[in-house]
Amino acid sequence: MFHGISDHKISEIDQNAQPYLDKNEFENIILWLKDNFSFLRPDQIWNPDKSGILLTFDDGFQNNYRTVLPILKRHNLPGLFFVTTQHIKNPRNWLHFVKNNLKNYKIPKALLTNEIKEDYYNGISEKQIIKMAKDPLVTIGSHTITHPVLSKSSESDIENELKESKKYLENLTGNSIEYFSYPFGDYNKIVLDCVSKLGYSAAFGIDKVNNLGNSRFEIPRIGIYNDSKPYLSAKLSGIYKLPIREII
Ligand SMILES: [Zn+2]
Repeated sequence: MFHGISDHKISEIDQNAQPYLDKNEFENIILWLKDNFSFLRPDQIWNPDKSGILLTFDDGFQNNYRTVLPILKRHNLPGLFFVTTQHIKNPRNWLHFVKNNLKNYKIPKALLTNEIKEDYYNGISEKQIIKMAKDPLVTIGSHTITHPVLSKSSESDIENELKESKKYLENLTGNSIEYFSYPFGDYNKIVLDCVSKLGYSAAFGIDKVNNLGNSRFEIPRIGIYNDSKPYLSAKLSGIYKLPIREII
């Protein structure tokens, strides 16, 4: 599981207020994965004869189109992109956790140029997502409308977030939206039942899942936040059951 991938990091900006990985680190990770694993398309994850890596990207940042897609194309690797629709309709309508991070980690104004804001925080545009969805390597999934904590939302809000994001992305791309990922990896039985009822075929959590008895909608993922080889070996081998950010 990845999120945004920046063009380049800025050391004066707190790590929590910018994408964890830049394009060079991301490509190093891809090269390491290629040396060690084969890769799957989303529709192959249930095939018992296949094993390998499924690359997923959460939130739908514009850098997924500008930075990640060219790298995937260069290596001919499939990717599943979970998009939050609020910042697709308006790329400058940043997600609340982005705004919170910017509030919590005071950044010198001079560093936040329009170019950096676009690279780090903007959502992918409608035009870009239409183009992306046509690429045979790309599968688009939903990641709600506003990126809420679903387990703390009302049932009607949960249904609205899951249903309307799916509908919007289906209208935009012309494809059926089959996959969902839980914002913050957070869900409970009500959320899970709603995902299942609305016609999604699979849903993804993060490193820890709740094991509520419906594994199709509780697929764990390994969050990658660093390109060092010992880190990648530990994470991919399962030594780290927790996201490394929680340990250090
Ligand atoms: Zn997210």
